[in-house]
Amino acid sequence: MERQAKIMDKVTLGSTGITVNKNGFGALPIQRISEGEAAALLIKAYDNGINFFDTARGYTDSEKKIGLSLSGVRKKIYIATKTPAANDHAFWEDIAELSGDFCRGCGYCLPCPAKICIPIAARMSLLMKRSPESFYLGKEARESMAHVEDCTDCGHCKAHCPYGLDASKLVRENWEKFKKIMV
Ligand code: SF4
Ligand code: SF4
Repeated sequence: MERQAKIMDKVTLGSTGITVNKNGFGALPIQRISEGEAAALLIKAYDNGINFFDTARGYTDSEKKIGLSLSGVRKKIYIATKTPAANDHAFWEDIAELSGDFCRGCGYCLPCPAKICIPIAARMSLLMKRSPESFYLGKEARESMAHVEDCTDCGHCKAHCPYGLDASKLVRENWEKFKKIMV
């Protein structure tokens, strides 16, 4: 009974107007368990009254696990995350990724008549943030990315992307960033 009363305690976060359960869920440790285990834990926390989940870009797949597990109750929970972005551009890129406007690399948009490897080209800047740049700046990667210049705007990729992404726009944006890094 005492435990239940404690769980129901609420707190308002500063001047945000957001009132949540005092017991928040720190999502750092779910990096170390499987997606299924994380889902069971997150849903159990939600079912027991927790509606505030704290994660970070740096917690590897923690954000993803929260998304996979709690998307069905997204409007009933609050998620706080943190970014190491050092400038406006990197910050807004993170926001775009979190809001779903990013390529998942599934490949349903292929084949591309211009031979663009869309699943890689459309998320090159994200991949480069997570892996050593040297891996993506080799001769093979440069030649592959250069195919973006051959895009004819045929529309095949956009018509076949299950996420409704404008893939040709994404590959062009990534190509422009890639060229700047190549210089
Ligand atoms: S619009 Fe461009 S990137 Fe998309 S399939 Fe056509 S040629 Fe390839
Ligand atoms: S553009 Fe869409 S279909 Fe193509 S790889 Fe990315 S998410 Fe998949």
